[in-house]
Amino acid sequence: MTVHLVGTISERIAQIQAPLPLSVRLIAVTKQVPIEAMREAYAAGVRDFGESKVQEAESKQRELADLPDIVWHLIGHLQMNKAQRALQCFQWIHSVDSLKLTLRLDRLAAQLTQKPQICLQVKLLPDPNKYGWTPAELLTDLAELDHCQHLQIKGLMTIPPMGLSHTEVLELFEQNRQLAATIRSQNYQQIQMQELSMGMSGDFPLAIQAGATLIRLGRVLFGDS
Ligand SMILES: *Cc1c(COP(=O)(O)O)cnc(C)c1O
Repeated sequence: MTVHLVGTISERIAQIQAPLPLSVRLIAVTKQVPIEAMREAYAAGVRDFGESKVQEAESKQRELADLPDIVWHLIGHLQMNKAQRALQCFQWIHSVDSLKLTLRLDRLAAQLTQKPQICLQVKLLPDPNKYGWTPAELLTDLAELDHCQHLQIKGLMTIPPMGLSHTEVLELFEQNRQLAATIRSQNYQQIQMQELSMGMSGDFPLAIQAGATLIRLGRVLFGDS
């Protein structure tokens, strides 16, 4: 889907922020976005930035070291061998997509002073291009995930497959909310389920309608790069 843009980055941010419910936090997705555009978003009030690669985030953090109150979110697939570096540069990891990775992060996070905040990525429809738990797999793994004392498991992240209708996308986001509610009702110790990371440039109004609390927007703010 092509996104048609008008105005400056600050104007687009203002336009998107203004009608957002207070429960929704905007994450500016800045993969391949130049530093100057990130500074413009920061000046417009954005403090949450999403990157999909550890290395790109590390180099941007060096360049933006004068802006220490940025909250960095990893939204792309994380390889096991980059888990340590990811914990050093991100306060949030939305794309935790397997039990093995969660256990690794938990072990590494034991050394940190701040508990990292993570979302568990779920795949609500079969999609060979995406990582994540199916709902059935996730329900099976919950007991073990609940042993992860060094992580804050905040909620569920999902990305719909390409090519769905608006109705199907909305249904999928609602399924994600229901899955989180089911997990919440099981009263785990460590697993909290108050956050729903869902919604990108092409579908964020549907995600908000379904209860998203973290929306991840790139192109609608910065254009197609
Ligand atoms: C790139 C990306 C986004 C932002 O997508 P846009 O269509 O540019 O808004 C959101 N989430 C993830 C996981 C991404 O990789």
